Amino acid sequence: MTIATQDTSTEWDYSPALDSTKVTIEQKNKLYIGGKFVSPRSRAWFATTNPATEKKLADIARAGKADVNAAVFAAKTALPKWSRLSGSERAKYLYRIARRIQERAREFAILETMDGGKPIKESRDVDIPLVAQHFFYYAGWADKLAYAFPGASSSPVGVCAQIIPWNFPLLMASWKLAPALACGNTCVLKPAETTSLTALRLAEVFQEVGLPDGVANIITGEGDTGRFLAEHKAVHKVAFTGSTEVGKLLMRQTAGTGKKRTLELGGKSANIIFADAAIDQAVEGIISGIYFNQGHVCCAGSRLFVEESILEEVIHKLTRRLGSLRVGDPLDKNTDLGAVNSKEQLKTIERYIRCGVEEGAELHQTNTSRLPKKGNWCNPCFFTDVQPSHTIAREEIFGPVLSVMTFRTPEEAIARANNSPYGLAAGVWTNKGAKIFEVAKKLDAGIVWCNTYNKFDAASPFGGFKESGFGREGGVHGLRPYVRLGGV
Ligand code: NAP
Ligand code: MG
Repeated sequence: MTIATQDTSTEWDYSPALDSTKVTIEQKNKLYIGGKFVSPRSRAWFATTNPATEKKLADIARAGKADVNAAVFAAKTALPKWSRLSGSERAKYLYRIARRIQERAREFAILETMDGGKPIKESRDVDIPLVAQHFFYYAGWADKLAYAFPGASSSPVGVCAQIIPWNFPLLMASWKLAPALACGNTCVLKPAETTSLTALRLAEVFQEVGLPDGVANIITGEGDTGRFLAEHKAVHKVAFTGSTEVGKLLMRQTAGTGKKRTLELGGKSANIIFADAAIDQAVEGIISGIYFNQGHVCCAGSRLFVEESILEEVIHKLTRRLGSLRVGDPLDKNTDLGAVNSKEQLKTIERYIRCGVEEGAELHQTNTSRLPKKGNWCNPCFFTDVQPSHTIAREEIFGPVLSVMTFRTPEEAIARANNSPYGLAAGVWTNKGAKIFEVAKKLDAGIVWCNTYNKFDAASPFGGFKESGFGREGGVHGLRPYVRLGGV
């Protein structure tokens, strides 16, 4: 038998190290309105910092009412021409955007990590590739809308106000912009105040590919900027991803205005491990479910339900695995958990951890990574002896904190998982296919992962039930919020 061996004479070309990619950051950023970078009429700026070093990265413009007006006006002006363009012409722009994002992927990844604190291996291998995938995917739909809505004619909704959070800044921008533009709408996007840099760089890509002026506008600012934008009379559609609290506020503010709305809100998702599951694989799923992106994930599997008979084994393996996670410099490609996005968020997480202890749950903080003096850091942890009434089992923490609970029967697992005001995601781990279907269909969750967790794809719809919001992003379903349907 001949065994093929590797040709050792081959010279391997390695990709250049990440830190060899130079990323320049504009010190005083502008707003992107009508195809141009313009100074804010408000003449106001605020600082964005690197949460891992607490060093200021740049000044970000704070768009006021006049700036919001200008951006909405630009989108309104661009609408007739863009919406009349054929789908295949719109697709060309989206394909170009996708390709340019791929070409500038390293720069985007580094910037995302510097501004937001997430590990570079996540921004490089997850966020940015998915951003490009979203633009590619919806480029593909732009000239096939008739097949997305058979038997109906579709027309664009109009000017879309899109407001996004800080946990997946560029990815959330792509989830909003790509389907909206594919359907012939024009947009004004507002990123979160702590993570505006990649959205502004995306605006550079729009310029590079020659996207017509005013079709996509990026305005930075704080909560009030978002409020002015959502309330603006010329806005036809509000797409919001963020907290349930602000989501409810937006519902009240836009009630009776006729604006179309989609809300992607918070979560307290259940990860259910049955005794017949592949335990090592499930433990990896628990880790990626809650510790991915420091737990800054709306669909994080923050409530773990373990079948009672395997609790000891799961805790043992989880403890060991937790100890091996590396917390630290997000730009280091070996880092598993980077910096918490802001001081405020760190305080919130620490408050929940104290609350868990005070209410009687047992804290396991077995990861003892030495943390830098500067920066916002939180070692990953989990709680046992958690009661369903405990605050940590009910409220969204948005940090690397897991609540472990048990169950005895599938019915009990389903009842306990559904005992939440949220309904975003869930995980089911078992080697029985029939059990997967049986349990998954009874869970009140928009996304149910089976024997995996936190996997995303542009072709797959994402969204919640109950207080996790309504409407879907991704897949063919993600087109629906951006069209008006009529008979043929
Ligand atoms: P947030 O405070 O609700 O902010 C989200 C966005 O809304 C930000 O751009 C924010 O601007 C803006 N905003 C704040 N107040 C506003 C107002 N009154 N009117 C209009 N806009 C306003 O949420 P966050 O803290 O950034 O993000 C974390 C939350 O997002 C978590 O609850 C998480 O579960 C949720 N999330 C959900 C999904 C999903 O798909 N379901 C995905 C990701 C995140 P500023 O940043 O300037 O305050
Ligand atoms: Mg920042």
